[in-house]
Amino acid sequence: MLSVSQILDKSVFQKDDLIYLLNSSGSERLKLFENAREVKSTFVGKKVFFRGLIEYSNYCKKNCYYCGIRAGNSRYARYRMTDAEVLEAVNYAFKNDYASIVIQSGEQTNKAFVSKIESLLKRIHRQTDGKIHVTLSLGEQSEDTYHRWLEAGAHRYLLRIEVSNPSLYLKLHPNNLSHDYHRRLDALKTLRKVGYQVGTGVMIGLPFQSVSDLADDLIFFREFDIDMAGMGPYIEHADTPLYKYRDSLMPLKSRFDLSLKMVAILRIMMKNINIAATTAMQTIDPQGREKALMVGANVIMPNLTPVKYRQDYLLYENKPCLDEEAEECKSCLEARIHIAGDTIGYGEWGDSKHFSQMSLKDSAEIPAALKK
Ligand code: SAH
Ligand code: SF4
Repeated sequence: MLSVSQILDKSVFQKDDLIYLLNSSGSERLKLFENAREVKSTFVGKKVFFRGLIEYSNYCKKNCYYCGIRAGNSRYARYRMTDAEVLEAVNYAFKNDYASIVIQSGEQTNKAFVSKIESLLKRIHRQTDGKIHVTLSLGEQSEDTYHRWLEAGAHRYLLRIEVSNPSLYLKLHPNNLSHDYHRRLDALKTLRKVGYQVGTGVMIGLPFQSVSDLADDLIFFREFDIDMAGMGPYIEHADTPLYKYRDSLMPLKSRFDLSLKMVAILRIMMKNINIAATTAMQTIDPQGREKALMVGANVIMPNLTPVKYRQDYLLYENKPCLDEEAEECKSCLEARIHIAGDTIGYGEWGDSKHFSQMSLKDSAEIPAALKK
């Protein structure tokens, strides 16, 4: 059996290698983290990019079994931000040199929604003189819709595959066309074809999910040649069907640790992509996002959603910063990033280097210092 150091020397990890790394502990685990940190600093630098997060609406037509804002949950008041609220959040991001925002929402595909997003994108473009880059995270849409939103000014799109194993996907979603694994995969391919920088990701520590599934997820990211990744621990929500499996889950701390390892391994596998330090990581560990930055993440999404809506956008329970206005959130984050030893790329779009460069697949391009 190879050691972590021998595995880290390989140019391409096989599935067995990934499982070994995901199971590593003690000094081997630390070696993995150390290597990921060095790769990050060499290939994407120590800069962290901010994406101001706007949780536009919690209306959702879908019923994913894990998610708190699923259509079947009547506990939350449903909201949609007004145009003025969206533009105010954008203005905050612009004035604070964030250079980039994410508009996220429950999935809606009706004509009014599609047109509303299109017109907001145009207004954002005008209001900021095209200086703010926009990432969308609005679920599965038609090719025409993706195209219209790109034309209106969006640049990047986040659509998590959630799990790359089709039979596991089926256990986590209703069995119908609007929750179909292959449809989601096709949507990712369409996004790529239309011309977006494409981000995807998975949840970690789900019921029925094994370490072997997570290794397959990492291989999926590599094969799909993604530009960005957002991964985080699964956190149970009492108003969802998966809650009944809560006793079968691994402890939160282990889900968190596995998430850190996923970030670290992905950074080593795909050296120049953007990887988010997700809010779900902070939900489990107050320093979760800084820890993710230390092992390879380079993007953070400060929440710009008006505080009055945040209680109603609970994808999972115990979401942090529910009562923090954008300004407090910003200074809190600056301190956190400083602790992690990084600096903030204010005023920079922070596009995925992967999107503009050839991918670095050949180990010959890895500096010798990293090949310990
Ligand atoms: N509706 C869009 C975007 C909003 S949901 C979509 O589904 O793509 C954003 C992400 O929240 C989902 O992709 C999912 O990975 C994550 N999420 C949902 N419920 C969660 C839970 N219980 N724990 C952790 N992450 C969750
Ligand atoms: Fe809707 Fe997205 Fe939640 Fe699924 S994960 S229920 S699509 S908001």
